[in-house]
Amino acid sequence: MIEIIRLKKNYGNLNALKGIDMSINFKEIYGFIGPNGAGKSTTLRILSTLTRDYEGEVVIDNMHLDINNRYELRKQIGFMPDVVGIYRHIFVWEYLDFFCRAYEVPPSKRNKIIDDCLALVDLSEKKNSLVGHLSRGMTQRLLLAKTLVHNPKILLLDEPASGLDPRARIELLMLLKELKSMGKTILISSHILSEMEGLCDRFGIIEAGEMVFEGSLDDIQIKLRSGNYISLGFYRELSKPENEAILEIEDVIEMKGEGKEYTILCNDGDESIKKIMKHLIMSDFPIISFSPRKYNLDEVFMKITKGKVQ
Ligand code: ADP
Repeated sequence: MIEIIRLKKNYGNLNALKGIDMSINFKEIYGFIGPNGAGKSTTLRILSTLTRDYEGEVVIDNMHLDINNRYELRKQIGFMPDVVGIYRHIFVWEYLDFFCRAYEVPPSKRNKIIDDCLALVDLSEKKNSLVGHLSRGMTQRLLLAKTLVHNPKILLLDEPASGLDPRARIELLMLLKELKSMGKTILISSHILSEMEGLCDRFGIIEAGEMVFEGSLDDIQIKLRSGNYISLGFYRELSKPENEAILEIEDVIEMKGEGKEYTILCNDGDESIKKIMKHLIMSDFPIISFSPRKYNLDEVFMKITKGKVQ
C-alpha cells in the first residue's frame, strides 16, 4: 500500500533520513518505532505530502508521489501530526465541519459524516462543546475523527497516544484496531513500545535516520536468534548453591531474578530448552513453572538499536 525507496531528507547539514526503505501492506497496522529525533515525523510529513523537498521515491496506493498528484493523494490519506495547533474556540462539530469543507465533502453529507465520526470516537455527547474544553484524551480522539472525515484508506498517526493516561491510551488503541477491521491501513509512530506490541502486525525500527529492522516480531526473533529466554518459578526461594548450580547447567548463559522468580537466557534452539528443563527436574529443583518465551518488543529494540542520536 505504501512503498518508500531510498528516502533521504536533509535539514541543512543534518541528514535526518539517510536513504530509508519501508513497505507497508494493505490493511495492516505498521508500528514505526524509534527514539526521539530518529526521523519518524520527518518520514510521516513526507508521506502526508506536506514536505516536498526530499530525495527518493514514495509510492502510495500504486501512485508515485510527485508535485502533480499531491492533492489527489491527500484524499487517500488521513494525517494526525504529533504537534497540532488545534482551534480551541470553536465547537467540536464546527471543527469537524471545517475539515469536511477543506476536503470538499459535499454539504448534503457533512452532518451525517460528523455524527458518524463523533460516534466512532465516542464523542457524540461533546458535539456542542468547545474544543478547548475537552480533556487531552478527548482532544486526541477528536483529532482522530478529523483524520477520518474524508474516509481515507490510509491513516498516518504520529505519536497519537502521547500524553494520554492509561485508560485513554487503551481506548485509543482499541479504536485503532476497530479502524483496521474497517479496512484502513494504519502507520503509527511511537516510542512507547509496550503499547505497540499487541497492536501492530509489522514494525519498522529507525535509528538516527536509518532503518535498522523491518518485519513482524516473529521475523525479528528469527533474525536475532542469539538465544532464548526462559521464565522460571519455584515454590520456595532458591539457596545460593542452587542458584549457582543453575548457572552451571550447560547452555545457560545468564540468570536474573531473585526469590522464587527468575529468567534465564540460554543458547538458541529447542534442544537446549529441553536439556535445561530435564536437568532442573532430574536434579530435584523446587520448580513449579517453566516457560520459554520470545523477546518482547522492548528487548528487541534494545538488541537492535545502538543508542545513536544525532
Ligand atoms: P522523530 O519524529 O523520530 O522524533 P524527527 O523526524 O522529528 O524525529 O527529527 C529527525 C531529526 O531532524 C532530528 O535531529 C531533528 O532535530 C531534525 N529536524 C526535524 N525537523 C527539523 C526542521 N524543521 N529543521 C531542522 N531540523 C529538523
